[in-house]
Amino acid sequence: MILDMRTIVVMLVVSSVLMAITLAVGTKMGRAAGFVKWNAGLGLLALGWVLVAARGVLPDLVGVALADAMLVAGLCTLLAGLIEFNDRTAPRLLLIAPGPLVFALLIPLVRDYGDVTLLMGVALAMIFGAMAIESTRLGPRAGPARWMLALACFASAVMLMMRAVDIWLRPDLYPNVFATNNMHAAAFIVLFASTIVIPLAFLLMHRERAAAKLYELATTDPLTGLFNRRAFCELAEREFARARRLQSPHAVLMMDLDLFKRVNDEYGHQAGDRVLVGFAAVVKRCFRIEDLAGRYGGEEFCVVLPGATMEKAIMIAERLRGAVSQRPLGDLPRAITISIGIAACSGTAEASVDAAIGRADEALYRAKQEGRDRVVGLEFAPEDGSIASP
Ligand code: GH3
Ligand code: MG
Ligand code: MG
Repeated sequence: MILDMRTIVVMLVVSSVLMAITLAVGTKMGRAAGFVKWNAGLGLLALGWVLVAARGVLPDLVGVALADAMLVAGLCTLLAGLIEFNDRTAPRLLLIAPGPLVFALLIPLVRDYGDVTLLMGVALAMIFGAMAIESTRLGPRAGPARWMLALACFASAVMLMMRAVDIWLRPDLYPNVFATNNMHAAAFIVLFASTIVIPLAFLLMHRERAAAKLYELATTDPLTGLFNRRAFCELAEREFARARRLQSPHAVLMMDLDLFKRVNDEYGHQAGDRVLVGFAAVVKRCFRIEDLAGRYGGEEFCVVLPGATMEKAIMIAERLRGAVSQRPLGDLPRAITISIGIAACSGTAEASVDAAIGRADEALYRAKQEGRDRVVGLEFAPEDGSIASP
């Protein structure tokens, strides 16, 4: 099949201009990391492709040397934007050096399309390769869109390298940019595809990051980093449903810092905040990965222990109580104590989360009554409010 190169190049021009505009509109989402560079990079690429399409009409210095310099500079700017998105600082040289360097290198070569394309193919393939590597370095919290970006960059790099080898082996087949041969056409089609996929993947990566941030804000207590009350209750519902399905025992711990008002009164509210942060750190250390801990109220915290019987729950609660009373939290000159109420639900208890928390609260109240700095456990009884009898 013979593909018409002029049509492919025109498609590339149209898609690169449209994608540059699309991303510029996407920027309205906010000043997220790397966006300015991606707008500039896509703008340069679009301009570069316009000049490439006008080859033969424009002087070679513009249609070849300047056009290709813009393509290299544009792609390097995208790479810099990606590095910035990755929370690192891109070297300034990456932004200013490649364009002028390519322009200067191509001036003596503009008449020979084969040499220019071989050189450009290798240069662009290297930058695409660097972008592919950079997009796989985004860290475990990045979503799947980075693989879309990595794949598009990797495919472009491989295709351009294959074409470079082809030019080297069969230079006669590459008289100019509109040369009709399948390898050349395939390279432009891959570039056309990546012109669409790469900006879309970048937009998606920003969306994924924004969504993850919103989720974190909606579910996390900003002071302690534990789940907030709403997220805790939602996740606890799921744990309880699972425990009911498996008919496995589970327990809820309600923990309250003893005489915390005094801490605030004696040392100030900020010192009190640091104690809460320190306490949350002990909580994170003391519980297993499958346990669910959240800040329920001001200085009240809840934990769901899946699979825990009363004995086990008391053991874990005592360990926490001991850890807290051993040494001061935050920068307080003295240690504080905590009281813990436990509601233990048997595998057949059919407890609702609300009812189990109510029962744990009752146990906590008893712990306070009995003199604080202690653990009190109560078995969950159906009359406390099982889901079967709401
Ligand atoms: P008890 O042993 O009976 O629990 O006594 P308490 O003083 O801890 O109980 P109370 O409920 O009277 O006081 C809780 C205090 O916790 C009151 C409030 O100022 C403080 N508190 C609640 N949220 C925060 C917070 O985010 N930061 C700080 N520093 N203090 C908080
Ligand atoms: Mg308290
Ligand atoms: Mg309290």
